[in-house]
This record gives sequence, C-alpha cells and structure tokens, in this order.
Amino acid sequence: MAERPQVLAGARNLGRDDTGDSPAARLTRLKEGDTVTARIFCFDPASDAAPRFETHRVPYTKWMRVLEVLTYVSEELGGDLAHRWFCANRMCGTCAVRVNGREVLACWEPVEPEMTIEPLRNAPVVRDLVIDRTAYERRVVALTPWLVRQEPYPGFPEPLTHRAMAPTARALDCISCMCCFSACPVVGLGQETSFAGPAPLVQLARVALDPRDGIDRGRIALEHGAVFDCISCYKCEEVCPVSIPIVTGAIEPLKALAFKSVAGKSRHARVFLKIVQARGRIDPSALVLGVQRLAALRHPLRIFKLWRRGKIDPLKTMLGFRLPDIEQIRQIYQAVRGGPR
Ligand code: SF4
Ligand code: SF4
Repeated sequence: MAERPQVLAGARNLGRDDTGDSPAARLTRLKEGDTVTARIFCFDPASDAAPRFETHRVPYTKWMRVLEVLTYVSEELGGDLAHRWFCANRMCGTCAVRVNGREVLACWEPVEPEMTIEPLRNAPVVRDLVIDRTAYERRVVALTPWLVRQEPYPGFPEPLTHRAMAPTARALDCISCMCCFSACPVVGLGQETSFAGPAPLVQLARVALDPRDGIDRGRIALEHGAVFDCISCYKCEEVCPVSIPIVTGAIEPLKALAFKSVAGKSRHARVFLKIVQARGRIDPSALVLGVQRLAALRHPLRIFKLWRRGKIDPLKTMLGFRLPDIEQIRQIYQAVRGGPR
C-alpha cells in the first residue's frame, strides 16, 4: 500500500479525515479505466469578454494527482490551457489552484471523479489558472522579512539551540504557495483593509520570532501588516499544504509583539481589553463597532448575514450584556496590569 501523504498526518487537516474526505479516501473512489471529469476555468483578460469553463474527460491512472490532469489537458488533448508548476513535489508552491472550492497544490492533490478547477482568489488572473503574484510579493517585501542583526555575527557555526529556534521553525516551512492568501476572507475585502494577509505575516513571523533578529517587528506587524485585522477564523490554516499553524504560530505571536511595541496605537487590542473588562467576555459586534466606528455600519447586508449566522448579537451589545462574575474578572485585570489604558 502506498505511503499516506504526509500532508494528512497532522491535526491541521481536521474535518477531512473525520468526513472520510481525505486524499486516501478519494483515491479509492476511482480505478484504472475510469474517467475523471475536469471543469476548468479559462480566461484570457486580453481577449475574452468573460471567463468560461471548459470540460475535459481524462482517463484515470493509478495515484493520479490534479497536476497530471492539467498536464494531460494541455499536452495530450492539445489544449491551450495555461497553468503553472515547477517541482511537482510539494516544494516550490507554484501549482496552487482551487479544486471544488478548496485551495490545494495540484501536484499533491489526488484527483476526484468530478472536479471544478479554478485559479486562486485574491490575485488577478494572467490567463486561465495562472495568477499575477506581483501584488502579493510587494506585500511580503513591505514587511521586510529578512534578518536584521544588532549583535555582531559570532562566526560559524552560530550557537543556536533548538529551544531558541522552535518558535520560528514552523514558519520556515512556508513554500509561498498563496493557498492561505486565497482562502483568507479579510484579504478578500480588498481596499477596505490594509491587512497584509496570512502568508506575508508568516514570512514576517519567521524573522520576528528568530532570536538573531534585532528590530521592532511588532511595529511593522501593526503599521505595515495591520495584523489586528485578522479575525482568527482559521480558514488559512485549514488549507495550508504544509500544515503551518498560521494563526497560533505566526499571527497571534505577532499580535502580542505589536501590542507590546505600540500598545497605545493598537485600537483593536485596546477595545478588546475594554470590552472584556466591562462585560467579562468578548462581544463581536461591540468589537467591530469600537474598532471600525461608523465605517462598520456601511455594509448593512453584511451585518444582517452575520446576525443570521449568529456571529453577532446587536441586542446584547445595546443592553450591555455582562457575565455575573464580572467583578472577579476586573480584579484579575487590576492585579495583572492595572486595567486597560
Ligand atoms: S485566521 Fe486571519 S489570516 Fe487566517 S484566514 Fe482568517 S482572517 Fe485570514
Ligand atoms: S503559510 Fe502555508 S498556505 Fe500559506 S503560503 Fe505558506 S505554505 Fe502556503
């Protein structure tokens, strides 16, 4: 039996194993001689008025991956399909696409009997499945994610312990595939936020958590990354093909650094603390109102949808709902840091 893909080994693929929707499970749905039906997004902004989908039927071969389907369509069927790939081995991160609505690496993702294959979101399409990475790469560069030493280089080999490097170690695995960037709903808000996005922040965390780095990364995370705009929805982690704990291992530590560096400037953290001190727990609608102020009311349809999905409760916000043990919580605040500033 073939070795199970490592991507499924970690707890980060929660839900896929639970529902049987794993690569291993999917491969059992097909056998040699079957046909895979691929509905592929096609669009050339230079000549097409609108995108369209082209359907291709591809003979299944054992252990077939999505990349093999794309290659078959562009080479064997004589198609004109544009798609990007390089290593075909989950190393270079260039072949990321969306399959049936989920961001995946084409080289690593087993095929399904019926697939809709689209380009990643949150980036312009160059042609078909190829996206323009320029804006994304500019965001990465704006965060200056390279080591800046204040201490002199002690020479080779540099004495570094596993313990000291542990916080940054997982971020080093990032292959810049942009799957998380495509899945992030906050990046999808476009101009409404200056949030750098999950992948650029992983790059920033890589140096921010490195003991050799010597500059104020918290300030950069806040001023150039708008790190507090992350809503901790974990959609980025769900799709990361190398199982990086993007929220807990990169974004949350950056938020902590940002709060430490520029506590007075991080309105999100200030409002968050005030709400918890006043009510004993976080109140999402009060948080959004406190951070975005009147701008939060610009999208009534979005507010309605959030309310319908139980994400916010404006009535509780207006009534100033608080927990019965609120005094104990306030005492904790006083003891720890004398209450919010
Ligand atoms: S957790 Fe934050 S970075 Fe990740 S998808 Fe949600 S908003 Fe984006
Ligand atoms: S964090 Fe994961 S999903 Fe995001 S770019 Fe890096 S490897 Fe890809």
